Amino acid sequence: MDETDADPPSFRLASIEDFEPFVGAETVDRIMAKAAPLRDLHVVNINSTYYGGGVAELLSSLTLLMNAAGIRTGWRVIEGRPDFFSVTKKMHNALQGGDIMLSDLKKDIYEEVVYENACRMHLDHDVVIVHDPQPLPLIMHYRKTAPWIWRCHLDLNRPNPDVWAYLAPFIERYDAVVMSLPEYAQKISPPQRFIMPAINPFTTTNKELSEAEIDERLDRYEIPRDLPLVVQVSRFDKWKDPQGVIDAFRIARKDVDATLVMVGNTATDDPEGQEIFASLCASREERICILSVQDSALVNALQRRAAVVLQKSTREGFGLTVTEAMWKGAAVIGGKVGGIRHQIADGVNGFLVETVEEAAARIVQLLKDASLRERLGAAAKETVRQNFLMTRLAEEWLDLIGSFEASFKLRGPVA
Ligand code: UDP
Repeated sequence: MDETDADPPSFRLASIEDFEPFVGAETVDRIMAKAAPLRDLHVVNINSTYYGGGVAELLSSLTLLMNAAGIRTGWRVIEGRPDFFSVTKKMHNALQGGDIMLSDLKKDIYEEVVYENACRMHLDHDVVIVHDPQPLPLIMHYRKTAPWIWRCHLDLNRPNPDVWAYLAPFIERYDAVVMSLPEYAQKISPPQRFIMPAINPFTTTNKELSEAEIDERLDRYEIPRDLPLVVQVSRFDKWKDPQGVIDAFRIARKDVDATLVMVGNTATDDPEGQEIFASLCASREERICILSVQDSALVNALQRRAAVVLQKSTREGFGLTVTEAMWKGAAVIGGKVGGIRHQIADGVNGFLVETVEEAAARIVQLLKDASLRERLGAAAKETVRQNFLMTRLAEEWLDLIGSFEASFKLRGPVA
């Protein structure tokens, strides 16, 4: 058969029905019934990066799942120069409680780049969903004919008041604001809804892998397999406390032998990653591997093979990496902050820690006790099955979009 006779590659999207083995037929039927009246609506999501970080990970799966359910859901990414992303990363940090010097120059860069994006976006969708602070002011440049929703993924426990006051007039224009947790609620007029993220079990990051596939992935990066692995997967970001992970591992190693693997990527909207990665490299040694690479199969392999997975964040809106590792039955130690406190029940399906010393003690305890690892890992997987699979997320979005039916007369099904 010559090449021209070959069948075109056959691809298919994961559908709501594919989740039936995990969530049951009743849940699938209920979600499909909610999707039916919204079929053919045109929805657009706008964020600031196609890869690197949880928002991109979520959007890549959720937009496809919505399309498979018949809702025409798109994903646009705003463009910006490095100085734009330098300003927006400072805003991101300040929204999570960091300091910021909000000069007029920074505001001008931010607002001008968003205006330029607005000029070439031509949004005439039935629903517009804007993610995080980077594209937030887009709404100022449209005559609103559809519901606009701002979805903030950050840990909003203690936003810097200056940055909040500056962003508030943009936020006020939205028809709803979605945050991950009720504790992130703010004093604003738009209705606030709380939706926790979720994972897709069929992606390269999460699908089943054989032991041989895991070995192959680890060998490719020369990750030693002779000792138990302690793993943290995270963007190189100060809120993920990478130095705290190294310090905790060093303390733990006085009692147990293991290899620490830290894998991180850098996102196009996060200019700080490179510098943080470079500063960590001084800590590399035979038993401390630090890799900057975007390889979802490696993330999957590490989360499956790890004896202990750490997510020692000091701020975390919701840690997708935590849920990904729990789905693989890993014993996870998470920072007792933000969304992680709602993902891990301490001592039941993982551990929560507040300090480097506590993290070190839990690493030692888990490395010494295989049955504890197994018990926590099994409970972790069940927690994800019940609460954190993407069908739950899709259903909550369908509910929210459907709730605008009366006020915006969303387009009904095409006859
Ligand atoms: N991730 C990845 N490679 C890396 C680091 C992270 O693919 O080297 C993925 C990770 O698997 C997860 C997402 O990026 O899906 C990070 O989401 P999370 O909510 O944990 O953190 P965020 O980066 O959004 O703060």
